[in-house]
Amino acid sequence: MKCMYCNCTDSKVVDSRAADDDKAIRRRRECTGCGRRFTTYETIEFAPVLVVKNNGTRQSFNAEKIRNGIIKSCEKRPVPMHVIDEMVSDISKQVYNSMESEITTKEIGEMVMERLKKVDEVSYVRYASVYRSFKDLSSFMTELKQMMKADKKAAEQKTDTKQV
Ligand SMILES: [Zn+2]
Repeated sequence: MKCMYCNCTDSKVVDSRAADDDKAIRRRRECTGCGRRFTTYETIEFAPVLVVKNNGTRQSFNAEKIRNGIIKSCEKRPVPMHVIDEMVSDISKQVYNSMESEITTKEIGEMVMERLKKVDEVSYVRYASVYRSFKDLSSFMTELKQMMKADKKAAEQKTDTKQV
């Protein structure tokens, strides 16, 4: 830690305390070269990742939100909770390991779809249609038509609840 007065690189910590809800450490240091004191802030390396929405607004990455979105898509589908949890922790890991400070909702959507597709096709289509409606009207319409066709089929075969 370089002293901003004399550029001396040696200093001792005279006081250390948590700042900003324990997300940072505030250190009071004393330069061993000139004796002046200065304060440094050290933030934890596990910095928050911001999610950039389509309209440009940003909010903190929230694994719980992704989880809720997946749960919604998997409603009444044979997808066990631990599989959903695995998907969420896998996505979280990928997000934090990327070392990027920002990620778009599009990228997160792709991560979810990529995994959901392998787990359950119906949940995947549900998720994809909701997600795509925000960015691409024509692909949403195609998806919607397919779903309506499938719904009609399901209505005709009311006894088979697995037919969607
Ligand atoms: Zn100094």
